Amino acid sequence: MVKKIFLNTFIISMVAIILSSVVFLGAYYNKIEKQMQAALETKTKLVEEGIRYAGIDFFKNINVSHDVHVTWRDKTGKILYDNIEYSDNMFEKTIYCDRTLPDGSIIRVASIYGSMQNLLFSMIHPMLVVLTILAIILYIVSNYIAKAIVAPINEIDLESGKIDDINGYEEIKPLLSRIRRQNIMIETNIREIKRQNAKRESFRRNFTAGVSHELKTPLTSISGISEMLANGLIKPEDVQEFGESINKETARLINLVNDIILISKLETDEIKVEREEVNLSELIANVVDRLGHIAGKRNISLTTDIKAKPVISGSYKMLEDMVYNLGDNALKYNFDGGNVNFILEQENQKVRIIVEDTGIGIPDEDKKSIFERFYRVDKGRSRDVGGTGLGLSIVKHIAIYHNGKVEVCDRDGGGTRMIVTINT
Ligand code: ADP
Repeated sequence: MVKKIFLNTFIISMVAIILSSVVFLGAYYNKIEKQMQAALETKTKLVEEGIRYAGIDFFKNINVSHDVHVTWRDKTGKILYDNIEYSDNMFEKTIYCDRTLPDGSIIRVASIYGSMQNLLFSMIHPMLVVLTILAIILYIVSNYIAKAIVAPINEIDLESGKIDDINGYEEIKPLLSRIRRQNIMIETNIREIKRQNAKRESFRRNFTAGVSHELKTPLTSISGISEMLANGLIKPEDVQEFGESINKETARLINLVNDIILISKLETDEIKVEREEVNLSELIANVVDRLGHIAGKRNISLTTDIKAKPVISGSYKMLEDMVYNLGDNALKYNFDGGNVNFILEQENQKVRIIVEDTGIGIPDEDKKSIFERFYRVDKGRSRDVGGTGLGLSIVKHIAIYHNGKVEVCDRDGGGTRMIVTINT
């Protein structure tokens, strides 16, 4: 930039100096020419007066200077006197002045002087000297100006944003404001990326810790029982009971591993399921059917209240898992002889699936945490009923995946209400 400003200043100044010198010389030459013409006319008048008084003898008595030439012709054109030497030299120019005497004869006085080329030629040397000196001065001044223009721009502190400090550079303030806005945007983005990375990292750590912890309990139990069996420490009549324990722990492990696989896919957005038309009332009927066996064992009634029959776009498998998980929890944390009710309703673009139970309910202080992975209100109870602590977290992700959300509240008269709202 310094180089460009310097070159522009230097070249423009030099061109301006050369042009003004040429114009000045032209005007000067013009003025000299006019003065010479006037002087020539005076000389011609003098010659005329001389001839009037002295005739041809006038020329004998005067000394005509070498650059003034006189021709005198009679009216027939015959030359009476002449000392002219015409010049066709490019460096010389001849000017004339004619006067007619009363007897009809004509006097011509001519003067030879240096032409414009001659003037220019004679000026070349001094001009070159002056131009060289000017060029050196301009070089130094242009360099100084270019650096002085650029220095304040280089000193601008884009980070501090103090753009009002750059007096004299009003025009670049909008540009600086834009750069600053972009800087702020970049900083915000970097902060956001760092925050997300930290969140992901903490999720990974917590998840790994949670998974290891969850796997440890059933594995310790299986390992203990099998060791006792191997050492013959279990009486034959107790083998069946211990066998059932191993079976229960293994089932819990399988559940846990399946839930872990599903939730890690959901949380890392790895799942790309084809969307299809899902009839939610049919889906609820299916889930109720699947849960009937467990409910029957505990004498819990399953009821439905289908107020609308919406068909939404989504993954049948995922939505079925979601409603099943809610129904399963409603049974697990219910009292024997209780009730689980499935409600399906639609309001404009919103579809609501509500699963309510007459169970133990959820304390207010736990309501905001139950959708977190591995969070349980009562660890012992959850384990007893075969919970993995991942069910509601899976429900939350499936709801979000379907452009929805899940909320919890108390059921009037005791128990829990889980409300999934999906925007269609
Ligand atoms: P879990 O596998 O332990 O059931 P969830 O993620 O499904 O894990 O639920 C988290 C916790 O929320 C449960 O451990 C339980 O304490 C509580 N919970 C979930 N659903 C209900 C419900 N319908 N009634 C009472 N408590 C519930």
